[in-house]
Amino acid sequence: MLSLNNWRTVCEVIGHEWVLKLLENAVRKGVLSHSYLFTGPDGVGKRTLALEFARHLCCRVSLPPCGSCRDCQEILGRTHPDLKLLEPENGSIKIEQIRELHREAFLAPHRSPYRIFIISDMDKATPEAANSLLKILEEPPLHSIFLLTATSPELLLPTIVSRCQVFNLRPVPESQIQEFLEKNWGVESYKANLLARLSEGCPGKAIRFIQEEELFKRREEDLEAFFYILKSDTVARLEWAGEFGKDEERLKEMLNWWILAARDMLLILEGAREKVVNADCLGKLEATAVKLGKEKTRMGLKELRSILAALHRNANLRLALDVLMLKLPGFSQEV
Ligand SMILES: [Zn+2]
Repeated sequence: MLSLNNWRTVCEVIGHEWVLKLLENAVRKGVLSHSYLFTGPDGVGKRTLALEFARHLCCRVSLPPCGSCRDCQEILGRTHPDLKLLEPENGSIKIEQIRELHREAFLAPHRSPYRIFIISDMDKATPEAANSLLKILEEPPLHSIFLLTATSPELLLPTIVSRCQVFNLRPVPESQIQEFLEKNWGVESYKANLLARLSEGCPGKAIRFIQEEELFKRREEDLEAFFYILKSDTVARLEWAGEFGKDEERLKEMLNWWILAARDMLLILEGAREKVVNADCLGKLEATAVKLGKEKTRMGLKELRSILAALHRNANLRLALDVLMLKLPGFSQEV
Protein backbone atom coordinates (compact mmCIF):
# COMPACT_ATOMS: atom_id res chain seq x y z
CA MET A 1 0.00 0.00 0.00
CA LEU A 2 1.14 3.54 -0.64
CA SER A 3 2.15 5.60 2.36
CA LEU A 4 0.80 9.11 2.79
CA ASN A 5 4.07 10.54 1.50
CA ASN A 6 3.73 8.50 -1.64
CA TRP A 7 0.18 9.69 -2.00
CA ARG A 8 1.39 13.24 -1.86
CA THR A 9 3.84 12.55 -4.66
CA VAL A 10 1.26 10.67 -6.68
CA CYS A 11 -1.39 13.32 -6.16
CA GLU A 12 0.62 16.34 -7.19
CA VAL A 13 -0.94 18.09 -10.16
CA ILE A 14 1.59 18.46 -12.98
CA GLY A 15 0.78 21.23 -15.45
CA HIS A 16 -2.78 22.55 -15.88
CA GLU A 17 -1.88 25.66 -13.88
CA TRP A 18 -4.54 27.74 -15.65
CA VAL A 19 -7.31 25.35 -14.57
CA LEU A 20 -6.18 25.36 -10.95
CA LYS A 21 -6.00 29.15 -10.98
CA LEU A 22 -9.56 29.43 -12.33
CA LEU A 23 -10.86 26.95 -9.78
CA GLU A 24 -9.04 28.67 -6.94
CA ASN A 25 -10.57 32.01 -7.94
CA ALA A 26 -14.01 30.44 -8.09
CA VAL A 27 -13.59 29.10 -4.54
CA ARG A 28 -12.27 32.46 -3.34
CA LYS A 29 -15.22 34.35 -4.81
CA GLY A 30 -17.74 31.69 -3.83
CA VAL A 31 -18.97 31.31 -7.41
CA LEU A 32 -19.10 27.57 -7.79
CA SER A 33 -20.94 25.30 -10.18
CA HIS A 34 -22.61 22.15 -8.96
CA SER A 35 -20.88 20.05 -11.57
CA TYR A 36 -17.54 20.08 -13.31
CA LEU A 37 -16.21 17.89 -16.08
CA PHE A 38 -12.49 17.31 -16.65
CA THR A 39 -11.66 15.74 -19.99
CA GLY A 40 -8.41 14.58 -21.59
CA PRO A 41 -6.37 11.46 -22.40
CA ASP A 42 -5.65 8.70 -19.86
CA GLY A 43 -3.02 9.71 -17.35
CA VAL A 44 -3.13 13.44 -18.16
CA GLY A 45 -4.18 14.20 -14.57
CA LYS A 46 -7.97 14.52 -14.56
CA ARG A 47 -8.64 12.71 -11.30
CA THR A 48 -5.59 14.20 -9.63
CA LEU A 49 -6.91 17.63 -10.52
CA ALA A 50 -10.36 16.73 -9.18
CA LEU A 51 -8.78 15.66 -5.87
CA GLU A 52 -6.79 18.87 -5.74
CA PHE A 53 -9.98 20.85 -6.35
CA ALA A 54 -11.62 18.90 -3.52
CA ARG A 55 -8.79 20.06 -1.24
CA HIS A 56 -9.43 23.64 -2.35
CA LEU A 57 -13.04 23.19 -1.31
CA CYS A 58 -12.39 21.49 2.02
CA CYS A 59 -9.17 22.93 3.46
CA ARG A 60 -10.12 25.33 6.24
CA VAL A 61 -6.58 26.57 6.84
CA SER A 62 -5.65 28.34 3.62
CA LEU A 63 -6.31 28.88 -0.05
CA PRO A 64 -4.54 27.40 -1.99
CA PRO A 65 -4.90 24.45 0.41
CA CYS A 66 -2.24 23.90 3.08
CA GLY A 67 -1.66 20.24 2.21
CA SER A 68 -1.06 19.18 5.80
CA CYS A 69 -4.28 19.70 7.78
CA ARG A 70 -6.62 16.82 8.54
CA ASP A 71 -8.96 17.73 5.67
CA CYS A 72 -6.14 17.95 3.12
CA GLN A 73 -4.58 14.68 4.23
CA GLU A 74 -7.84 12.77 4.34
CA ILE A 75 -8.68 13.91 0.84
CA LEU A 76 -5.33 12.68 -0.43
CA GLY A 77 -5.87 9.39 1.41
CA ARG A 78 -9.44 9.34 0.06
CA THR A 79 -10.82 8.80 3.54
CA HIS A 80 -12.47 12.20 3.97
CA PRO A 81 -16.08 11.73 5.11
CA ASP A 82 -17.35 14.39 2.68
CA LEU A 83 -15.56 12.94 -0.32
CA LYS A 84 -16.81 10.02 -2.33
CA LEU A 85 -14.89 8.58 -5.24
CA LEU A 86 -16.76 6.53 -7.81
CA GLU A 87 -14.87 4.42 -10.33
CA PRO A 88 -15.94 1.83 -12.88
CA GLU A 89 -16.54 -1.59 -11.32
CA ASN A 90 -15.71 -4.47 -13.67
CA GLY A 91 -15.40 -2.07 -16.56
CA SER A 92 -18.41 0.18 -16.06
CA ILE A 93 -20.13 2.61 -13.71
CA LYS A 94 -23.38 0.94 -12.78
CA ILE A 95 -26.84 2.15 -11.86
CA GLU A 96 -26.44 0.79 -8.29
CA GLN A 97 -23.43 3.06 -7.75
CA ILE A 98 -25.37 6.12 -8.89
CA ARG A 99 -28.37 5.12 -6.76
CA GLU A 100 -26.15 5.06 -3.71
CA LEU A 101 -24.73 8.43 -4.72
CA HIS A 102 -28.32 9.68 -4.98
CA ARG A 103 -28.94 8.76 -1.36
CA GLU A 104 -25.72 10.32 -0.09
CA ALA A 105 -25.92 13.51 -2.13
CA PHE A 106 -28.96 14.66 -0.18
CA LEU A 107 -27.38 14.17 3.25
CA ALA A 108 -25.78 17.15 4.99
CA PRO A 109 -21.96 17.32 4.84
CA HIS A 110 -20.05 16.08 7.91
CA ARG A 111 -17.61 18.90 8.46
CA SER A 112 -16.91 20.63 5.13
CA PRO A 113 -19.17 23.13 3.39
CA TYR A 114 -19.78 20.58 0.63
CA ARG A 115 -20.20 16.93 -0.14
CA ILE A 116 -17.93 16.17 -3.07
CA PHE A 117 -18.47 13.33 -5.50
CA ILE A 118 -15.69 12.46 -7.92
CA ILE A 119 -16.98 10.25 -10.71
CA SER A 120 -14.01 8.86 -12.58
CA ASP A 121 -14.33 7.67 -16.20
CA MET A 122 -17.93 8.77 -16.59
CA ASP A 123 -17.62 7.71 -20.25
CA LYS A 124 -17.73 4.14 -18.94
CA ALA A 125 -21.15 4.58 -17.33
CA THR A 126 -24.01 2.36 -18.49
CA PRO A 127 -26.90 4.28 -20.16
CA GLU A 128 -29.06 3.67 -17.05
CA ALA A 129 -26.35 5.04 -14.76
CA ALA A 130 -25.81 8.08 -17.00
CA ASN A 131 -29.54 8.86 -17.07
CA SER A 132 -29.78 8.47 -13.33
CA LEU A 133 -26.86 10.86 -12.79
CA LEU A 134 -28.46 13.34 -15.16
CA LYS A 135 -31.51 13.48 -12.87
CA ILE A 136 -29.31 14.52 -9.94
CA LEU A 137 -27.44 17.09 -12.02
CA GLU A 138 -30.74 18.59 -13.16
CA GLU A 139 -31.73 19.37 -9.59
CA PRO A 140 -28.57 19.12 -7.53
CA PRO A 141 -28.73 19.30 -3.73
CA LEU A 142 -27.43 22.69 -2.53
CA HIS A 143 -24.34 21.44 -0.74
CA SER A 144 -23.20 18.81 -3.28
CA ILE A 145 -20.52 19.23 -5.92
CA PHE A 146 -19.94 16.68 -8.67
CA LEU A 147 -16.56 16.32 -10.36
CA LEU A 148 -16.72 14.12 -13.45
CA THR A 149 -13.85 12.88 -15.58
CA ALA A 150 -13.95 11.45 -19.11
CA THR A 151 -11.62 11.03 -22.06
CA SER A 152 -13.80 13.25 -24.22
CA PRO A 153 -17.09 15.16 -23.76
CA GLU A 154 -18.44 13.54 -26.95
CA LEU A 155 -18.61 10.24 -25.08
CA LEU A 156 -21.14 11.59 -22.56
CA LEU A 157 -24.80 12.51 -22.83
CA PRO A 158 -24.92 16.08 -24.19
CA THR A 159 -27.45 16.86 -21.47
CA ILE A 160 -24.87 15.92 -18.83
CA VAL A 161 -22.11 17.95 -20.48
CA SER A 162 -24.31 21.03 -20.76
CA ARG A 163 -24.83 21.01 -17.00
CA CYS A 164 -21.11 20.93 -16.26
CA GLN A 165 -18.38 23.49 -16.37
CA VAL A 166 -15.99 21.75 -18.76
CA PHE A 167 -12.19 21.82 -18.59
CA ASN A 168 -10.30 20.12 -21.38
CA LEU A 169 -6.87 19.14 -20.06
CA ARG A 170 -4.14 19.40 -22.68
CA PRO A 171 -1.02 17.22 -22.69
CA VAL A 172 1.62 18.46 -20.23
CA PRO A 173 4.92 19.72 -21.74
CA GLU A 174 7.65 17.07 -21.79
CA SER A 175 10.11 19.25 -19.89
CA GLN A 176 7.66 19.63 -17.02
CA ILE A 177 7.11 15.87 -16.78
CA GLN A 178 10.85 15.23 -16.92
CA GLU A 179 11.49 17.70 -14.10
CA PHE A 180 8.72 16.14 -12.01
CA LEU A 181 10.16 12.63 -12.48
CA GLU A 182 13.65 13.77 -11.51
CA LYS A 183 12.53 15.76 -8.47
CA ASN A 184 9.68 13.71 -7.04
CA TRP A 185 10.64 10.22 -8.11
CA GLY A 186 14.43 10.51 -8.15
CA VAL A 187 14.62 9.23 -11.74
CA GLU A 188 17.96 9.95 -13.40
CA SER A 189 17.93 12.57 -16.11
CA TYR A 190 18.33 10.33 -19.18
CA LYS A 191 15.58 7.96 -18.11
CA ALA A 192 13.30 10.80 -17.01
CA ASN A 193 13.67 12.32 -20.46
CA LEU A 194 12.81 9.02 -22.14
CA LEU A 195 9.79 8.42 -19.89
CA ALA A 196 8.58 11.98 -20.45
CA ARG A 197 8.70 11.37 -24.21
CA LEU A 198 6.98 8.00 -23.95
CA SER A 199 4.23 9.43 -21.76
CA GLU A 200 3.09 11.77 -24.57
CA GLY A 201 2.13 14.55 -22.21
CA CYS A 202 0.46 12.30 -19.64
CA PRO A 203 2.32 12.26 -16.29
CA GLY A 204 0.18 9.33 -15.12
CA LYS A 205 1.61 7.18 -17.91
CA ALA A 206 5.17 8.07 -16.92
CA ILE A 207 4.41 7.09 -13.32
CA ARG A 208 2.99 3.76 -14.49
CA PHE A 209 6.27 3.07 -16.27
CA ILE A 210 8.10 3.56 -13.00
CA GLN A 211 5.68 1.49 -10.98
CA GLU A 212 5.27 -1.36 -13.46
CA GLU A 213 8.62 -2.48 -14.79
CA GLU A 214 6.88 -5.13 -16.86
CA LEU A 215 5.31 -2.40 -18.98
CA PHE A 216 8.72 -1.13 -19.95
CA LYS A 217 9.99 -4.61 -20.76
CA ARG A 218 6.96 -5.36 -22.91
CA ARG A 219 7.62 -2.20 -24.90
CA GLU A 220 11.12 -3.43 -25.72
CA GLU A 221 9.76 -6.80 -26.83
CA ASP A 222 7.09 -5.10 -28.92
CA LEU A 223 9.61 -2.89 -30.70
CA GLU A 224 11.81 -5.91 -31.40
CA ALA A 225 8.79 -7.71 -32.86
CA PHE A 226 8.03 -4.68 -35.04
CA PHE A 227 11.53 -4.62 -36.51
CA TYR A 228 11.36 -8.38 -37.05
CA ILE A 229 8.02 -8.20 -38.88
CA LEU A 230 9.18 -5.38 -41.15
CA LYS A 231 12.09 -7.41 -42.41
CA SER A 232 10.28 -10.76 -42.64
CA ASP A 233 8.49 -12.32 -45.59
CA THR A 234 4.82 -13.32 -45.51
CA VAL A 235 5.44 -16.91 -44.39
CA ALA A 236 7.56 -15.84 -41.41
CA ARG A 237 5.08 -13.11 -40.53
CA LEU A 238 2.08 -15.42 -40.52
CA GLU A 239 4.03 -17.93 -38.47
CA TRP A 240 4.82 -15.21 -35.94
CA ALA A 241 1.17 -14.10 -35.88
CA GLY A 242 0.07 -17.70 -35.34
CA GLU A 243 2.08 -17.80 -32.14
CA PHE A 244 0.55 -14.61 -30.81
CA GLY A 245 -1.91 -15.46 -28.04
CA LYS A 246 -5.56 -14.47 -27.83
CA ASP A 247 -5.15 -11.48 -25.55
CA GLU A 248 -6.82 -8.57 -27.28
CA GLU A 249 -5.71 -5.94 -24.77
CA ARG A 250 -2.15 -7.13 -25.23
CA LEU A 251 -2.48 -6.80 -29.01
CA LYS A 252 -3.82 -3.25 -28.66
CA GLU A 253 -0.92 -2.37 -26.38
CA MET A 254 1.53 -3.78 -28.93
CA LEU A 255 -0.10 -1.95 -31.83
CA ASN A 256 0.12 1.31 -29.90
CA TRP A 257 3.88 0.83 -29.64
CA TRP A 258 4.13 -0.09 -33.31
CA ILE A 259 2.21 3.07 -34.22
CA LEU A 260 4.55 5.19 -32.13
CA ALA A 261 7.58 3.50 -33.70
CA ALA A 262 6.23 4.06 -37.23
CA ARG A 263 5.51 7.68 -36.36
CA ASP A 264 9.06 8.03 -35.05
CA MET A 265 10.40 6.61 -38.32
CA LEU A 266 8.42 9.18 -40.29
CA LEU A 267 9.74 11.96 -38.08
CA ILE A 268 13.30 10.77 -38.74
CA LEU A 269 12.69 10.68 -42.49
CA GLU A 270 11.27 14.18 -42.32
CA GLY A 271 14.30 15.49 -40.46
CA ALA A 272 12.65 15.91 -37.04
CA ARG A 273 14.76 13.48 -35.00
CA GLU A 274 14.44 15.59 -31.87
CA LYS A 275 10.73 14.76 -31.72
CA VAL A 276 11.25 10.99 -31.67
CA VAL A 277 9.46 9.36 -28.72
CA ASN A 278 11.41 6.08 -28.54
CA ALA A 279 14.65 8.00 -28.16
CA ASP A 280 16.56 5.00 -26.79
CA CYS A 281 16.05 3.13 -30.10
CA LEU A 282 17.02 5.98 -32.39
CA GLY A 283 19.74 4.06 -34.25
CA LYS A 284 17.54 1.08 -35.02
CA LEU A 285 14.57 3.25 -35.94
CA GLU A 286 16.70 5.26 -38.31
CA ALA A 287 18.23 2.21 -40.02
CA THR A 288 14.77 0.67 -40.45
CA ALA A 289 13.24 3.94 -41.67
CA VAL A 290 15.92 4.37 -44.32
CA LYS A 291 15.39 0.82 -45.60
CA LEU A 292 11.61 1.17 -45.70
CA GLY A 293 11.41 4.67 -47.16
CA LYS A 294 8.89 7.43 -46.56
CA GLU A 295 6.04 6.16 -48.72
CA LYS A 296 5.96 2.65 -47.24
CA THR A 297 6.38 3.99 -43.70
CA ARG A 298 3.41 6.27 -44.19
CA MET A 299 1.33 3.42 -45.61
CA GLY A 300 2.35 1.19 -42.72
CA LEU A 301 1.32 3.80 -40.18
CA LYS A 302 -2.07 4.06 -41.86
CA GLU A 303 -2.53 0.26 -41.80
CA LEU A 304 -1.59 0.05 -38.14
CA ARG A 305 -4.05 2.76 -37.19
CA SER A 306 -6.85 1.20 -39.17
CA ILE A 307 -6.27 -2.25 -37.61
CA LEU A 308 -6.23 -0.74 -34.12
CA ALA A 309 -9.46 1.13 -34.87
CA ALA A 310 -11.01 -2.13 -36.14
CA LEU A 311 -10.05 -3.86 -32.88
CA HIS A 312 -11.72 -1.07 -30.93
CA ARG A 313 -14.83 -1.83 -32.97
CA ASN A 314 -14.55 -5.46 -31.83
CA ALA A 315 -12.97 -6.94 -34.96
CA ASN A 316 -11.86 -10.57 -34.70
CA LEU A 317 -8.33 -10.65 -33.27
CA ARG A 318 -7.01 -13.49 -35.41
CA LEU A 319 -8.38 -11.99 -38.61
CA ALA A 320 -7.11 -8.50 -37.78
CA LEU A 321 -3.63 -9.79 -37.08
CA ASP A 322 -3.48 -11.83 -40.30
CA VAL A 323 -4.71 -8.88 -42.37
CA LEU A 324 -2.05 -6.71 -40.80
CA MET A 325 0.67 -9.26 -41.58
CA LEU A 326 -0.38 -9.26 -45.24
CA LYS A 327 -0.84 -5.52 -45.62
CA LEU A 328 1.95 -4.01 -43.56
CA PRO A 329 4.65 -2.86 -46.00
CA GLY A 330 8.13 -4.21 -45.30
CA PHE A 331 11.51 -4.53 -46.93
CA SER A 332 11.77 -8.27 -47.39
CA GLN A 333 11.81 -8.82 -51.15
CA GLU A 334 8.47 -10.58 -51.04
CA VAL A 335 6.47 -7.97 -49.14
ZN1 LIG B 1 -5.42 22.00 4.50
